[in-house]
Amino acid sequence: MILENEYIQNLLDFIFPKLCLGCGEYCENDKDICGNCERRFQLIKLPYCLHCMNYMNDEIVCEICSDKTFALYSYANYADPIREIIIQFKFKGITTPADLFAKRIYALYANLLEKYNADFLVPIPLHNSRENKRGYNQASVLAKKLGELSSIELNESLIFRTTKRKPQARLAVSERKKNIDSVFQVEQKADEKYKCILIDDVVTTGNTVFEAAKELENSGYRVVAVVSIAHAF
Ligand SMILES: [Zn+2]
Ligand SMILES: [Zn+2]
Repeated sequence: MILENEYIQNLLDFIFPKLCLGCGEYCENDKDICGNCERRFQLIKLPYCLHCMNYMNDEIVCEICSDKTFALYSYANYADPIREIIIQFKFKGITTPADLFAKRIYALYANLLEKYNADFLVPIPLHNSRENKRGYNQASVLAKKLGELSSIELNESLIFRTTKRKPQARLAVSERKKNIDSVFQVEQKADEKYKCILIDDVVTTGNTVFEAAKELENSGYRVVAVVSIAHAF
């Protein structure tokens, strides 16, 4: 029976070879990302303060901003091949890369992220109609995997999108702030100052995470940091 299964699996692999999401070549592992592509990721390794737009030392407080620190923990620069993989993860229904990304992010930043003693991991929500069409929210898929690795609870129902707007990536940088203005609403006011870490797939100017943080803080929560797969400049 085992031999038979193995035979069928080999046959399936032959007919439908697994291709890497980054380069489209045959992929030797079950992560859908080949070793060659992974070696080409431009890793970041340091937190970046979205408030003053500088890399921070290996600490959770920015030397320049102190209590205004808004730290972003990104795994890699938003450049190919990770860019291509994220596009497939977001739009093509392929959620397998979340596992690898969560593991790599956690391996890089676990020490720093655990220092916040955060209560919740909060994925940046999609508008309901967009999530229904796509079948999932990529930020939630990533947050769930990060929640399994860390001791921080996943909270997907804290914040939602009130209105559907154009995707930020399709707009000029100058138009992005206005596009995301007042787009989020918080489900319930906090009865204590819960600490939240926001999760998104790609952070560019930070307008989206600043807006989500503003709404959460207006409702009594504290947003202590942001985690993303990639950082686009
Ligand atoms: Zn590849
Ligand atoms: Zn700073």
